[in-house]
Amino acid sequence: MNVPFLDLKAATDELSAEIHAAVARVVDSGWYILGPEVEAFEAEYAAFCGAAHCVGVANGLDALKLALIATGVGAGDEVIVPSNTFIATNLAVSQIGAIPCPVEPDPVSFNIDPERIEAAITPRTKAILPVHLYGLPADLDAVRAIAERHGLVVIEDAAQAHGARYKGRPIGGGSHAVAWSFYPGKNLGALGDGGAVTTDDPEIAERLRMLRNYGSARKYENSVVGYNSRLAPIQAAVLRTKLPYLEEWNGRRREIVALYTAQLAELDLVLPREPNWGESSWHLFVVQHPRRDWLQEQLAGRGVQALIHYPIPPHRQQAYAGEAWAAAAQPIAEAMAAQVLSLPIGPQLSAAQAERVIGALQDILATVKVG
Ligand SMILES: *Cc1c(COP(=O)(O)O)cnc(C)c1O
Repeated sequence: MNVPFLDLKAATDELSAEIHAAVARVVDSGWYILGPEVEAFEAEYAAFCGAAHCVGVANGLDALKLALIATGVGAGDEVIVPSNTFIATNLAVSQIGAIPCPVEPDPVSFNIDPERIEAAITPRTKAILPVHLYGLPADLDAVRAIAERHGLVVIEDAAQAHGARYKGRPIGGGSHAVAWSFYPGKNLGALGDGGAVTTDDPEIAERLRMLRNYGSARKYENSVVGYNSRLAPIQAAVLRTKLPYLEEWNGRRREIVALYTAQLAELDLVLPREPNWGESSWHLFVVQHPRRDWLQEQLAGRGVQALIHYPIPPHRQQAYAGEAWAAAAQPIAEAMAAQVLSLPIGPQLSAAQAERVIGALQDILATVKVG
């Protein structure tokens, strides 16, 4: 039995009839940009997140970028980001001419360490951009308290955190803006690109609606220099079909996590843990091992596909070579990049497949002494 990292086709197949009906609804409606399907999804997703507003955009990177612009971040401003995030977090900042300022994560929670944030604040700092990495919520109260003390904006990168909870409340409200991706592999994924920003602030929501649509609130009247970044109605219809299943599907992820946690505990492997303030969406189940590449190969040899999220931290990417902010070493992020390995997880992963992963790891790690 081979265990793929994630089976997207199986996710679509489970809701096949409903998804086909939703797509047909849009095809037959004659309405292909924004309109009722996008508005309905925005209302449903805002309600799910406990946010006052949701604005659908083209993808997660644009969600971050437009959220930064809509909250007043611009060229020359510094934005504090975790040093161990996916490159999109940094790209959103640098593409608007702002400067990403990496702050190291807490090695247990993988998320930005609030204790290290204040040392990175300068007179040019405008925003803090915590990422709920792997679906584990960052410590938002601590981040928001620092932001309030220094008059900073908080924008959350929730691209991996659909359905995650912070102190019992869903991620999505409470900060200036929260950016989402509906890339197919995310916990709530479209059949193509998609994204959204949620916010409690009606003015930020209004600015986002203009920014995604050529800077225009009324057709052919352009009040700001905007973009074309709209969530497609077909994707909104697919997302509306999948949203009612998100809690159940996240629940299935938690069952796999329970199996992994119980049965891998004795192995020479660092397992992920939920912080006591948060409930993860378990987008990824990331273990750490000093001989990660070897472990990945051993698993592959037993038919188990494990992936690395992420092998090179943003400050070490070629794209940012020569940038002053990228020059300093980020030892925690770099150590993580060398040791992290994501085991297969997803709502369509069967218990038998999870047992297969566990068996393979027991087989590999019981027989070889780690050096
Ligand atoms: C997926 C992801 C993004 C970007 O989303 P896209 O829809 O692919 O543009 C941003 N941040 C994080 C943490 C992500 O995982």
